[in-house]
Order: sequence, then C-alpha cells, then structure tokens
Amino acid sequence: MKKYFFLVLSLISISIFAQKSYYWQQHVDYTMEIDMDIKNYQFNGKQKLVYTNNSPDALHEVFYHLQFNAFQPGSEMDMRLQNIVDPDGRMVNNIGTSENPEYESKIAKLKPDEIGYQKILSLKQNSKTVKYEVIGTILKVTLNTPIKSGNKATFEMKFQGQVPVQIRRSGRNNAEGVVLSMTQWYPKMAEYDIEGWHANEYIAREFYGVWGDFDVTIRIDKDYIIGATGYLQNPQEIGHGYEDTSKKIKTPKGKNLIWHFKARNVHDFTWAADPGYIHDTKQVPNGATLHFYYKNKPKTIENWKKMQEEAVKTMQFYNNYIGKYPYKQYSIVQGGDGGMEYGMLTLINGDGKYTSLVGTMRHEMAHSWFQFVLATNESKHAWMDEGFTSYISTIARNNMSGNKEDTFIFDRVYKTYSYLANSGKEEPLSTHADRYDTNMAYSIGSYYKGQIFLSQLGYIIGEKNLQKTLKKYYADFKFKHPTPNDIKRTAEKISGIQLDWYLNEWTQTTHTIDYAVKSVSDKEITLNRIGQIPMPIDLTVTYSDGTTEDFYIPLQMMLGKKSTSSTGLSYWAWGDNKFTFTASKPVKKVEIDSSLLMADVDRTNNIFEAK
Ligand SMILES: [Zn+2]
Repeated sequence: MKKYFFLVLSLISISIFAQKSYYWQQHVDYTMEIDMDIKNYQFNGKQKLVYTNNSPDALHEVFYHLQFNAFQPGSEMDMRLQNIVDPDGRMVNNIGTSENPEYESKIAKLKPDEIGYQKILSLKQNSKTVKYEVIGTILKVTLNTPIKSGNKATFEMKFQGQVPVQIRRSGRNNAEGVVLSMTQWYPKMAEYDIEGWHANEYIAREFYGVWGDFDVTIRIDKDYIIGATGYLQNPQEIGHGYEDTSKKIKTPKGKNLIWHFKARNVHDFTWAADPGYIHDTKQVPNGATLHFYYKNKPKTIENWKKMQEEAVKTMQFYNNYIGKYPYKQYSIVQGGDGGMEYGMLTLINGDGKYTSLVGTMRHEMAHSWFQFVLATNESKHAWMDEGFTSYISTIARNNMSGNKEDTFIFDRVYKTYSYLANSGKEEPLSTHADRYDTNMAYSIGSYYKGQIFLSQLGYIIGEKNLQKTLKKYYADFKFKHPTPNDIKRTAEKISGIQLDWYLNEWTQTTHTIDYAVKSVSDKEITLNRIGQIPMPIDLTVTYSDGTTEDFYIPLQMMLGKKSTSSTGLSYWAWGDNKFTFTASKPVKKVEIDSSLLMADVDRTNNIFEAK
C-alpha cells in the first residue's frame, strides 16, 4: 500500500512537472553553398542542416518551407488571390476600369521560365536517404529514426531553384530594376514549439523561423554586388565596398566571385544582388555599421545619401527606447516591393519620394526589434510585429521631427481604427493573418489596432510604465518567441495592474469602447459605459468658476491603479454601466479622456458642456 502510494505520488509530481509551461526553443545550424546562374535565374544549392531538438518530444517527422513554390499558377497563393474581394494591388493586374475593377492574378499568368520553384534533388537524414513529400509550399519529411528530445540530426539536401519574376517580396527584376531579391529562397525548416509544428502554407502573410546560425557561400557573376544577412568573411577577395582599403584586394580569376557570409543567432537568411548597386556604409556611434545598397539613378542617389544620417539617428533612437540592437551590422537594400523585414537587413523600394523612403526605412528598421529579435509568430500574432513596429516608428517620427507635432500624434491611427470598427468588417486580432476575410481588416487590424494596443496600454498603466514595459519585454524575450501573454505579463509585473481583461477584449474580440457623459446636475456627474470594453476613466472637469480638476476612475478588474496626480475616485465595476460622483463645486464642463489615448469609437458623447 505504501509502495503504491509513493508510486502514485511520484507519477503526480512527474505529471505536474510535465505540465509546467517551461520554455524551450529548437535550434538550426545551416551550411549552404549556392551556385547562381544569372542568365536563367536558376541556382543549385547544397544544404547541410544540423537540427537540435530541444523540445520534450521525440520527432517522427519534420517540415520544411518551400516558399518559392507559391509563385506558380494554381498554387494556394494564386487561388487565394483570385478569390479574395480586395486583392493586394501589387499581385494583380486590373483588366477592368478603376470604377469597375476586374482583377487578374499575376501568378496565374507566369510562364514556366518565370515561375518560382525549389526542387528537392536528394535528402538524407544522418547519411541515409529519407522519405519526403512535397505538399504545395511544404516539404513533409518522414524520418528514418525519430529525433529524441535533446538530440541532434543532420540533414543533407541537394536542391535546385528558379527565382520567380518578382510579384511579392522575392523575385527577379523588380519594378525598380533590382535583379535578385532573394527572400524565402532556400528550403527552410519550419518552427516546432510548444504549440507543435508551424508548417504554414505560404499564402500571403508573414513568417516564423527557427533560431540558429547560418554559413552561406554564394557563387555569382563577379559584377554582382550582394547585400545579405550576416557578415562577409572574405572581403579582400570581394571588394565592392566591403574591403579594408588599407590592404590589397585579391579577387580570384574567372568570371565568378564566391561570397562567404556567416550569421549567428538569427532566424532567417536573406540576400539581394545587382550589378548596378552603389554600396555605402555609415557607422552608428558605439553601434552597428549600416550598409546601404541602391541603384545608380540621380534622384535615388540623392535620396539615399540624404537618408543615411536619418538611419543612424533612427537606430540610436530605437537603441535608447527599447534596448540595444544586438548585431554589428544592419543593411538597407533596395529590392523587393514596398518594404519587408529580414534578419539584419531590410529590402525596400527606393525610387519614390524622400518622405516615403524615410518612412519605410523607419518602419522596417523597427522590425529589427519587433520580429527579428523579439521573434513573434507573424502569422498568428501579426498585431505584435506590425502594431508594435508601427507604434515605435510613430514615436520615433514625432521625436525626431525636431518641431514636435502639436496635434495628437496617433490621430490618423485612431481614426483609421474607428473606421474599421464602425464598418462591420472588423475581425479579431487573434485571426490567423492569412485567413482574414479582407486584406483591409488584416491591415487596419494589425497595423492600426495593433499599434493602439500599446498607446492605449500607456493610458491604462501610465506612459512611464509603458516605456519600462517595452524595455523589460525586450530584455526578457530577445532571441526568443514571445507571445501575446508575454507582453501582458510584462506590463502586469511593471505596473502592478491586472490586464487579462485588456488582452482578451482588445485582441480576441471585436468589442469596442464607448463611454459617455450621461448627465451633469450642479455638482453631480454621471457617466455611462455604452461599449462592451471596460476602461479606466480619466476625466477633466471645468467648474463654473473657471478652475479645472482632473479625476481618475480606476476599473475594478484592474485590481490596481496607475500613478496619477488626478483626484482618485472609487473603482468602477464592469458589471455596472453607470458611475455617479459629486464634485466639490458646480460643474460647467466635463470631458472623458482629453489625452485621446482611449480608443473611444464615438467621441461625440465624451464632452458635456453646460449652456
Ligand atoms: Zn511592417
């Protein structure tokens, strides 16, 4: 009996231990050799991947992404493009009129020599051939022997790729004439985490990668200049602006150069190449070296030279505001479409107006913190990378514009969110980024409502606590995969305020905020909660004698209060939609949230003024 008791007890303790949500992450070590043929845009690749299974599970299968396969007629990306009501304008031709648009998928029109693909020629696990199956943009590998918890496996792969005509992010000969934008170009191991495999089909939206180290050599025509994730290991054999000018350059004979890059502790490897790139560098004092790659056109040169000092200041601003950029190099490369963040690098369009060039640079650089170091799953929590990036770049723009804007800096952001909230097309931020009904709901949700998650959090816990929260979030979760709960818990720890209600209402529902001043009678003020989302209330009262007093009504669910110089009132419980209190003097005017940080979807009832 006793013996069984101990057995039961130890089983209970094992199961408690197993259920404890301790954190682990997988690790990848890639060595790749790439041979690029610039005449037909095809390349041969050899990939050795040492995969470390840090999970508590034995893995019987693994999945790779083959994202170039999306750029083929009939792919899921093509089908989605043909079925969504508001397709991405970059990916379709309008064969109708501007009033009556009729869209045609650009992917559907690709010819065999224009499509993208990654073909697996051979694959071995620990030197033995292994079974695999290609399903759309996913390679499913059935392992010969499971990779046990804590063990490593070595995968050796030969593959062949064709760079698609540039339609979205990756591709050849983009609209500005950049020859190669090489993003999601290699067979890339999918992430396996506490939720399981994240082997998402490449349909439209963004990425989630495994942390690790990359050693990449690229053989390419010697006229081409490459900008890439990672540090160039052989600058004196390359030149092209990488060389130590005090030493001699020794380029090998023949028509190719072999570029050797290494990157440690990143979750992707991206590169771009063009024979016409100008390559400049600029040093951030006590920080990273910035590299710029752009086309040799008069207006582009003027804008890109002018942007360089702004890029230095932007990185210094983010370093101070969030935490220091952890790599020694960051590259801003003309390529792709629009702008997209990658490891230690961004590809952005570069021929447009100076203001949009700087705006894009500022946004994409901020992604180096929000996604490339704080590696959230962009597919599942797009609001955390796009929203937080947008927030920090709005703050940077305002701080660096010299003459600080007088108007509410988030004015356009709140108005755009209100438009969505009142449109009937809003979907919860917890929707998978690929599966929103409309691109509009995805975009306004992720970029605008996601941005308001932070600005409004500042309203709830106080601006200083928000700044501390961002710093602690970065310090605690850099080089990891933070989730929505992690930003919430960080804010709770910093502020002493309970925030589960906020995370739930703002990201998992389409509830809205609407508070109103219901009535004012001499000294008595009554407020109403009309919207479903509860909030603490900052109130500005103007008395009949012309003096003013600020009041603060904490929300009961917060079980705590922000620090404020306002007169504190009692808690307002969510279940009660009315709140009444008596001020010290006759009241002339009442205003709910004069900071405008609370995203009230109807502000017309926020102000009461006695006639
Ligand atoms: Zn972004």
